[in-house]
Amino acid sequence: MQPLDPPAKPGAILSFDFDGTLHHPADEPPVSPRLFRTLERLRRDEGALWGINTGRSIAHVIEGLVESGFPFTPDWVVAREREIWLPQPNGRWSPLQPWNQSCEDELKSFFIEVRSILDLIRRDVEEHTGATWIEQPGDPAGLVARTEEEMAWIMQRVESHANGNPFLGWQRNSIWLRFGHKKYQKGSSLAEVARHFGLDASSTFAIGDSHNDFEMLSPGAAAMFACPGNAVADIREHVLAGGGHACTATHSLGCVEALEKFFGGPV
Ligand SMILES: [Mg+2]
Repeated sequence: MQPLDPPAKPGAILSFDFDGTLHHPADEPPVSPRLFRTLERLRRDEGALWGINTGRSIAHVIEGLVESGFPFTPDWVVAREREIWLPQPNGRWSPLQPWNQSCEDELKSFFIEVRSILDLIRRDVEEHTGATWIEQPGDPAGLVARTEEEMAWIMQRVESHANGNPFLGWQRNSIWLRFGHKKYQKGSSLAEVARHFGLDASSTFAIGDSHNDFEMLSPGAAAMFACPGNAVADIREHVLAGGGHACTATHSLGCVEALEKFFGGPV
């Protein structure tokens, strides 16, 4: 699987959240062929470079691409909401430097700084809920709750403890939560992708359905932003309040609806 032929001149950046936006496992196929056709048209007519902006690790993204039957690979991937990866002609993916390295270095020292706050959150969570704390390579701190209700309770505790450090951020996706530095999220990663291709927010489009999409669904990251019809209520309200497009269609057909709204339909 290779990317589409490079455009003569990059004209737009298209950023898609993966799970619940581009991809829906219950749909058959999980990504509509109409989306592939729309991406090919926008590559040809607008010089659009498309990518996946997700909380998944890069290995998990590649797995998802194969599973969804994409006829071509993305032009870029943002993994774990912060690492930028670019496809190579040999089919491998390579990290965008110095972005990925400085991000990892900065996070390493930041997690030492916020250790005591995270310990307090962990104690609270383990004493009062059945959520599981996660610490693994690439994910210095995170958790998975049993239910959305449990996560709502945890969020209140996280917000209160996090007052102790102005840069302590987190990315929530349903019952999953990953702690990080506020500087690194889908929005700042997307801005870096645009910069890499010589573009900026004015020619950037983004679509997502859940809480970890907040930052990329804002004018600072993407002048054109949308959510699919299945987006969580908080995201739908956020998109409408910011002047974005809340789709009627769900998942990948929602992506097609949003792209046609901002770039026009097929002629
Ligand atoms: Mg999602």
